[in-house]
Amino acid sequence: MFKYVILFTCVYAFLNQVFASELLDWPVKLNNESHQFGANLSQFVEIGSKYFHAGQDIVASAGSEVITPVSGRIEAGYYEYRDLPTGHSEKIFYPLLETMNDLVLQTRLRTFFEVAIIDDEGRRFEFHHIDAVKMTMDIRGAIITNKRIEAGTVVGHVVSRELNQFGILYDHIHYNVIDKNGKYLNPFALSSEVKDEIPPKIKGVFYKEENTLAKCKLHNGEFLKSVKENTEILNPEYLVFEAEDYLSNNKIAQAVTIIDISYDQGDVPNLTYDFSKGLELDFDIREIYYGKFCIGDPAYPLNLKGSVNTKFYYKVPLPLAYDGGVTVSVYDFKGNKTVKSFKISYKDLRNPF
Ligand SMILES: [Zn+2]
Repeated sequence: MFKYVILFTCVYAFLNQVFASELLDWPVKLNNESHQFGANLSQFVEIGSKYFHAGQDIVASAGSEVITPVSGRIEAGYYEYRDLPTGHSEKIFYPLLETMNDLVLQTRLRTFFEVAIIDDEGRRFEFHHIDAVKMTMDIRGAIITNKRIEAGTVVGHVVSRELNQFGILYDHIHYNVIDKNGKYLNPFALSSEVKDEIPPKIKGVFYKEENTLAKCKLHNGEFLKSVKENTEILNPEYLVFEAEDYLSNNKIAQAVTIIDISYDQGDVPNLTYDFSKGLELDFDIREIYYGKFCIGDPAYPLNLKGSVNTKFYYKVPLPLAYDGGVTVSVYDFKGNKTVKSFKISYKDLRNPF
């Protein structure tokens, strides 16, 4: 028995070491303050246009050091995005060496400058909103001579953006990790542990009544009704729920990490969107994220003021003439969970008999 305990302890220590050594440092110093983590990977953002955020924002004051958590080849350049109709976006990258003398582009994209490290596995670690002007001669030299950069090196400094968001000065880096197949990995799955003991919240549930037309001009929206849990919902076309998550000590709302929808009647499979490991680029965001509507309940005024929509609306599709229960479960990154169930009734109103 004792032998097994020792063996188990050894195996446990070994696994612990393996996992511990795999966790990367965050690229800016974590300060444990309430506004450190901003928009996350699974977030649908509306800044002028709409797109999937795909990386993690980490708030840090302008001038803060950005330190690469991995070793590898270095690249830098300006970038911008073009929207795709599916809600994803296409990046246009202007490498540093090709833009050295292009003052017009440098001015236009002043705060959209990226330094990236490509590690030995082919993963690309991108740090956005780096100050191009403050780039050191060492880093500039490494880019020009293709010199390898070691983990722990300061590769840049956070640029000042004078951007107010979420009630704070939102200077930050946007941190993307992209594997060699182009999949966006969730930085929370790769990086040292961040505390989160608070489950996500489902704040409101709404439904689109069958055959109702768009009534509200705001954002070309449709008219939705709010509904409480355990209330019967008659003939909805679909449900929309509002959910959000907060990490412990963090005051900026985050999108949830896993959304799971199950139907208890008929042969309807569960619908799951799982962003815990990363973001698949092969689905249309409009399937699940729902931003374009207004709500006919004064208790839920939809406020889209400001440059970022910090409310997260998820659409729950319903089979035609569905009659039965629907359960919505949302999880945050740590697996903290919140569940709500709804009863949907179908009546053929054209034929009362
Ligand atoms: Zn961002």
